[in-house]
Amino acid sequence: MSESIGPAGEVPVAGGLPVAEEAVEAARTLGFDAAQVRHSELVPVLQRASELYYQQDAPELSDAEYDRLMRELVAIEAAFPALVTPDSPTQRVGAAPTGTFGEVVHRRPMLSLGNVFDEDELRAFDARVRRGLGLPAAPEPANELRYVAELKIDGLAISLRYEKGRFVQGATRGDGSTGEDVTANLRTISVLPDRLREAATCEVRGEVYMPKAEFARINAEREEAGLPTYANPRNSGAGSLRQQDSRITAARRLSSWSYQLIEDGADGRPTTAGQSDALARLEALGFPVNPNRAEGVDIDGVIAFLHEWREKRHDLPYETDGMVVKVDRVDQQERLGMVSRAPRWAIAYKFPPEQVETVLEDIVPYVGRTGTLTPVAYLRAAKVAGSTVARATLHNLDEVRRKDLRIGDWVVLQKAGDVIPEVVRSIPERRTGAEHEFEMPAACPVCGTAIVRDEGAVRHYCPNTTCPARLAQEFAHFAGRGGMDIEGAGWAVLEQLLARGLVKTRGDFYRLTVDDLAALDRFGRKSAENLMAAIEKSRRRPLARVLNALGIPQVGESTAIDLASWIASRWPSESMDPGEWILLVARELRGVTADELQEIPGIGAVVAGAIAAYFTNPETAGILGDLVAAGILPVPPAGRVASASGAAGPLAGKTVVVTGTLAGWDRAAAEEAVRAAGGKAAGSVSKNTSYVVAGEGAGSKLAKATELGVPVLDEEGFRKLLAGEPE
Ligand code: NAD
Repeated sequence: MSESIGPAGEVPVAGGLPVAEEAVEAARTLGFDAAQVRHSELVPVLQRASELYYQQDAPELSDAEYDRLMRELVAIEAAFPALVTPDSPTQRVGAAPTGTFGEVVHRRPMLSLGNVFDEDELRAFDARVRRGLGLPAAPEPANELRYVAELKIDGLAISLRYEKGRFVQGATRGDGSTGEDVTANLRTISVLPDRLREAATCEVRGEVYMPKAEFARINAEREEAGLPTYANPRNSGAGSLRQQDSRITAARRLSSWSYQLIEDGADGRPTTAGQSDALARLEALGFPVNPNRAEGVDIDGVIAFLHEWREKRHDLPYETDGMVVKVDRVDQQERLGMVSRAPRWAIAYKFPPEQVETVLEDIVPYVGRTGTLTPVAYLRAAKVAGSTVARATLHNLDEVRRKDLRIGDWVVLQKAGDVIPEVVRSIPERRTGAEHEFEMPAACPVCGTAIVRDEGAVRHYCPNTTCPARLAQEFAHFAGRGGMDIEGAGWAVLEQLLARGLVKTRGDFYRLTVDDLAALDRFGRKSAENLMAAIEKSRRRPLARVLNALGIPQVGESTAIDLASWIASRWPSESMDPGEWILLVARELRGVTADELQEIPGIGAVVAGAIAAYFTNPETAGILGDLVAAGILPVPPAGRVASASGAAGPLAGKTVVVTGTLAGWDRAAAEEAVRAAGGKAAGSVSKNTSYVVAGEGAGSKLAKATELGVPVLDEEGFRKLLAGEPE
């Protein structure tokens, strides 16, 4: 089914995807038989790519490669319409729900967009729109046709349903007609309102994304824990939203921009006359709307917007892979209508992938926290995607061989998800013969211990658990943000603490004195006292954070959350003194078996084995006990948990602000407990706040709550609330 806009003979459009006449011509010259063969090669490749991308959030092709193959398929189908079948990737949006979540049938289909890749194609889009509307070919002064240009957010499309101003259901796009019910997970995204500023009933569409910094943080943690890393923020954002356990989504700090409003007035017509009005109304209702946009522009204005953001986009804290151009007026949109998978009144312009060529000057193995030797590429400094890159991880030896990288090679460099530098491949044609293969060293470059590679495994590692390189990183992870979060315990401090023998075990952090710290280089009394206060504060972190801080192989933040919940249900903390409870837990864990741990949903044999080994191996078994002896008091996780299928925790749909100092929780622990109970932890009080939990010294937030009539709870009330007891 090839379709065309306007009079016969115009640019062919297959499945809503415009395609250049030359590409169609090239496909025609293949002849039907050869085109059919190529078609049958491309379809399964694209189908599999879609499955990996949409259902597993783990693509194997780059987006640019996918787009290239898709365009080839579109051209073939435009040349030979008989080859188009309903299940061709050109006719489909996304992929069907996986069955992991409840299903939501969209009231109106959630479409894809046609893509263009250069300015000529953008102008061709403008020309098609003009023909479709019967307007003159050149922009006219009468403002007949105006566009809105928005940044295209590289995330996951979502649809949010509000009834009488309340958020009731949220879904992914799925295959465009049926999406996955991810309501509980969407509730954890703090920028999305639970309640609107007026009692509107509407559907709002937008993009959920993972900020670049969060992507970098999570990937660094996953790499350290020996888990596979995410390819880019889009996949890591999508993976985080499509979690069975809302606590994992909550821990990922996702964000969102809203860009489409479906709201009908009493006459059944849309409440807004155009896209620019709709964005203004979304803002007024309380949705996050991206301020970086151009409104009221013709195609030249659209192209100016594109030029403005081509470089500047790298400075944004989130990823954009292009811009979306939309005809502003609803009446014109309706006249243009849609083709099978995309509207005719909008188009996505994709930024070209940024790749540069540079020289791989050396490959140096680094010893990581778990002893893993990671080959790191030392590159001739090159500017890519907005910054200068001189280093990139090559992950492991297999990867070096797979990409055929030799020291001295010219290589193609890009940034994965605009953030993490990645060596894509070597350029063998540029070899001179002076290049040489990289080999892993036989001995650890730091401590000299013989390097091990287990049978069938990819990683090489230094088995010496007291290797100084390992210890420094283990302790940095322990004190770092995802762990005990000891503010001020950065590299410079850690190195000194280790070098002076003040910290030999993790427990030693809690045995330090102000005098110890004041004696460090460039440390005054005041900074020693500040660091001491930060250490004191970290004694009461949530158990999941403490478990993550331990750096158990195979355990990242989400497994740590699952493990903490399991521990709390196995050895309940209620009616126990927190000190006695953690003592009991530390003791009992030393007898834990892999079989028992496999009871935990989502934990398989490998992870269970690694956890059991950690708690029973004489070298690591005593670490938690040592920490407890040094006086840490982990906070047990709150009892009940929201599930992604929508079954609600006791705080589902509630927004809670914690203020002042609580005796039993630090702020992070209290907020995590709110999220674990299905609620949203907010930083400021508004009339949408459900409760304010006020501790010692609460000030302006408490006053604001009283002024707005928001219920205020003390610590006891908070505990009851979390336990689901009536107020
Ligand atoms: P798309 O990403 O090209 O464009 C449509 C989507 O853009 C919309 O559904 C919406 O979610 C999003 N969007 C972001 N900002 C927007 C805004 N301001 N206004 C409107 N929409 C906005 O199309 P698609 O169908 O979602 O996915 C196709 C693309 O996905 C491909 O071009 C490719 O880049 C990628 N993909 C990659 C692979 C792979 O293997 N790497 C596989 C499948 C798809």
